[in-house]
Amino acid sequence: MIDFRSDTVTKPCNDMLKAMMSALVGDDVYGDDPTVNELERFAAQRHGFESALFVTSGTQANLLGILSHCERGDEYLCGQRAHNYLYEAGGAAVLGSVQPQPIENNDNGTLCFEKLRKAIKPDDFHFARTKLLSLENTIGGKVLSIDYLNKARAFCNEHGLALHLDGARVYNAAVALEVDITEICSQFDSMTICLSKGLGAPVGSLLLGDNAYIAKARRLRKMVGGGMRQAGILAAAGLFALKNNVTRLADDHQNARYLAERLNEIEGFSTVNYNVQTNIVFVDVEDSVDIQVIADSLKQEGILFSPGYQGMRLVTHKDVSKQDIDVLIEKLSHFVR
Ligand SMILES: *Cc1c(COP(=O)(O)O)cnc(C)c1O
Repeated sequence: MIDFRSDTVTKPCNDMLKAMMSALVGDDVYGDDPTVNELERFAAQRHGFESALFVTSGTQANLLGILSHCERGDEYLCGQRAHNYLYEAGGAAVLGSVQPQPIENNDNGTLCFEKLRKAIKPDDFHFARTKLLSLENTIGGKVLSIDYLNKARAFCNEHGLALHLDGARVYNAAVALEVDITEICSQFDSMTICLSKGLGAPVGSLLLGDNAYIAKARRLRKMVGGGMRQAGILAAAGLFALKNNVTRLADDHQNARYLAERLNEIEGFSTVNYNVQTNIVFVDVEDSVDIQVIADSLKQEGILFSPGYQGMRLVTHKDVSKQDIDVLIEKLSHFVR
């Protein structure tokens, strides 16, 4: 199978599996798992936070992240296209009674500070209490600039808001910007990182913040059933991912640009409206092309992609090569003809 649906489909390499097999483990709910403890220590230090929490998924990291900043009746500002608004089953609202206040994203993924300012509620019993701004980087494959993040920090300082980053793909952003990850992290009070996307671990995410914040998140993690026992097997994969799989994300970005160029060679397919910055390629497909039929046919040939996002969305990752892209283009051209 050549799988372009997402970078979540990556499978652990042999060296990662070896690290998992030889991981020292204990009961992490008792705080006894040495490998989880090592991952949390390493992650906190590497990203410049006091503390870190290893959690089951990016969704759980965002949920605990928002609920550790906000109480019932508080609200968080976020993008209309934010994962933690659109794609997490409304968790913060359902489980935490925290109201999202979405703002339309600009095309480059940013949020307009003037619109954000207008959305902050005055201290009045009619309103929810605005506590937090949540950004996402990368968002739809697009990178928020360091300059924008600086401005977001200043905005939050001015308005007394906390600043959270959904950093599911924050390493893609750092690699694309050619900066050390800490240049991004240093602007935020809290952030999440997915180990299970481009970084290639099978399971797991991180939540980062100060000691009191992570202590609160740890209680909430138990509450939502996220207390894991011999989780060191998974933490070993996460440690391996952070230490070995970061710089190679540049290959995914290069492959994504190559894929976008090749797609433009096919009649009825165009990527010109989307600037490929990282590992996600959006494609406009002409109405005359039945993309669902093509997706079904290519599936028979062992090639998977997601139809329906704008036409097509394709994601590059460590388990698709340049040759795999050539195979896709060849078959796709064939079906379109
Ligand atoms: C994938 C993703 C998440 C959620 O991660 P899961 O591990 O799939 O729950 C959160 N935010 C963003 C931006 C993502 O891309």
